[in-house]
Amino acid sequence: HAKKYGTNQIQQYASEMDFRWEQRLELENGIRKALERDEFELCYQPQYDITGTLVGAEALVRWHHPEMGMISPALFIPAAEESGLIKPLGEWVLREACRQNKLWQMSGLASIRISVNLSIKQFEQPDLADKVAAILRETGLAPQYLELEITETMAMDVDRATRTLHDLKSLGLYVSMDDFGTGYSSLSVLKQFPIDKLKIDQSFVRDLHKDEGSASIVATIVAMAHHLNLKVIAEGVETKEQYDFLREHQCDQIQGFYFSPPLSPAEFARIGKAVV
Ligand code: C2E
Ligand code: MG
Ligand code: MG
Ligand code: MG
Repeated sequence: HAKKYGTNQIQQYASEMDFRWEQRLELENGIRKALERDEFELCYQPQYDITGTLVGAEALVRWHHPEMGMISPALFIPAAEESGLIKPLGEWVLREACRQNKLWQMSGLASIRISVNLSIKQFEQPDLADKVAAILRETGLAPQYLELEITETMAMDVDRATRTLHDLKSLGLYVSMDDFGTGYSSLSVLKQFPIDKLKIDQSFVRDLHKDEGSASIVATIVAMAHHLNLKVIAEGVETKEQYDFLREHQCDQIQGFYFSPPLSPAEFARIGKAVV
């Protein structure tokens, strides 16, 4: 059922696990074994344009532990980062998302763009663009159906990040800036980075109708993005009020529980059926 892929239950598992896995090492060994045993899976959260047409999906990794059930990426991604296991894990996620999207295309589903989260360690790999190019070739997915999500933390070394982004963009794929507004990147970074889209962080969307500050931040990010020729998507849209506000302020795309939680591949295939 769709619900089990959602955030609430996962957070519950995560807090239960905090005390069971005090040892980072145990967690790292677990991740290593999970990679060998194929215990990771992807779920896909639909992304819609403002009129409600399906345009994309964000691939979100889940650890389906045989005894503990679903484990949140918020718990194991940091450990994977620290141990270096994020490289094989991130590569698996990228390959699996591309493979799945190509499979959906071949089975006649509406063409969508799949977006994949990159971690900082992945982003700093000197051969990242080559790796991505190889995965596109191997899976046969055309580059315009892939989007990579970076975060503001990757903008620390601006010149190096800009070069990496140009390498990636030259493959023909799309790049978005995730969790926008929560990091430290300056506005000049936005001007310099060859990116396509900003993802307004869900904390601003959540508080849209609770405080005026969040409402003006959201409206300002949308306007600024458009002035810079960037698209903008709001994440964490949970209510009709939030959706109405975003539509009134010309936000281009939305993603959130109001429309759909992250779905299993089978569930996603059902909602993606529209176009043949
Ligand atoms: P993110 O990239 O910002 O992903 C959005 C998160 O918000 C997802 O949590 C999603 O399930 C959740 N979400 C979506 N709609 C709503 C909503 O309406 N309300 C609320 N409250 N939450 C919503 P998830 O799947 O637990 O992922 C958490 C974070 O873990 C992601 O944040 C991302 O930073 C990271 N992550 C997930 N998959 C990967 C991956 O494959 N690689 C890397 N490096 N990081 C990943
Ligand atoms: Mg993301
Ligand atoms: Mg985000
Ligand atoms: Mg986030």
